[in-house]
Amino acid sequence: MTGEFDLIRQFFTRQAPSVHVGVGDDCAVFESEPGTQIATSTDLLLEGRHFFSDVDPFKLGHKALAVNLSDLGAMGAKPIGCLLGLGLPDFNDAWLARFSAGFHALAAKHGCPLIGGDTTRSEQGIVISVTVFGSVTAPFLTRGSACEGDDIWVSGSLGAADVALSLLMRVWQGEVLSDPEHELLEKTRPWLEMPVPRVELGLALRHLAHAVIDISDGLLQDLGHILQASNQGAVLQLSQIPVNAAIAGISAKQKRKAVLGGGDVYELCFTAPVRGREKIRAVGKELGLSLSMIGTITSENQLKVLDEDLIEIQDLPSGFDHFR
Ligand code: ADP
Ligand code: MG
Repeated sequence: MTGEFDLIRQFFTRQAPSVHVGVGDDCAVFESEPGTQIATSTDLLLEGRHFFSDVDPFKLGHKALAVNLSDLGAMGAKPIGCLLGLGLPDFNDAWLARFSAGFHALAAKHGCPLIGGDTTRSEQGIVISVTVFGSVTAPFLTRGSACEGDDIWVSGSLGAADVALSLLMRVWQGEVLSDPEHELLEKTRPWLEMPVPRVELGLALRHLAHAVIDISDGLLQDLGHILQASNQGAVLQLSQIPVNAAIAGISAKQKRKAVLGGGDVYELCFTAPVRGREKIRAVGKELGLSLSMIGTITSENQLKVLDEDLIEIQDLPSGFDHFR
């Protein structure tokens, strides 16, 4: 068992040459490049609500930072550093070693060193709060910037995280999965537990995209935020929406729900003028990331999804809302 300060030294103090003052003082101090603005975002993860108690702590450390980096990606911001608030029921060295390894590995990959935080005991399970800082310049890739006639794009593929989550919830409730379901869980689980934040894509979309959002609650819900903020509507074509290969075998109905309503995706959904198509395709090629055009922004103030026969789907799944 480690004390609070040993714990911070051992697991959370790393070299951060890019910052002036890192972990160990009253505040962290970092440089803000002249002529740039600071983008910041924070996300809270609670045991039992955002992650299962038995999740691999390495993956949890990764995900806690990944969901925040994803927000920087959605703003086209370049990571500078991050803060980590931790509430822990006990100080378990083995757990901390894996958690911090997952966290630092992703931080190093994105040049986003851990530069401070807070650590305390929690009686109500594990609480993780990560705050990220990035540098960004105008024009900002806000949700309110979509224009009529814009193409709607999505990166990567959708649906696998939602399928993994549904299966894990059944396991957690004591259900025994069939062999094919087990296989499906093993294939889809990495998409839920180790999301890849699209930071490079966000940076590349500056001067190309209008509105950008990362898909955390489901494509329809998150695109809905863009539409609301931009006072626009959209038409999507279901057949153009990229379905994760891991869920190719599930029923069409389940697939539709997972792709349109499934959260925890952390791909970017963005709108861009038609004239930018070629440059956007080139960005996808350069990053080795598939970028799919899935629809169009309209002035109609509603979100329509057309099925394979181009007929409007009536019973659309909704995304995730914590207070619903
Ligand atoms: P203070 O009393 O000034 O709030 P603390 O004793 O809480 O300072 O923390 C000591 C130092 O360790 C600070 O620099 C703080 O940013 C850092 N720190 C505490 N917890 C963490 C953590 N989980 N990850 C990274 N840095 C941390
Ligand atoms: Mg403190």
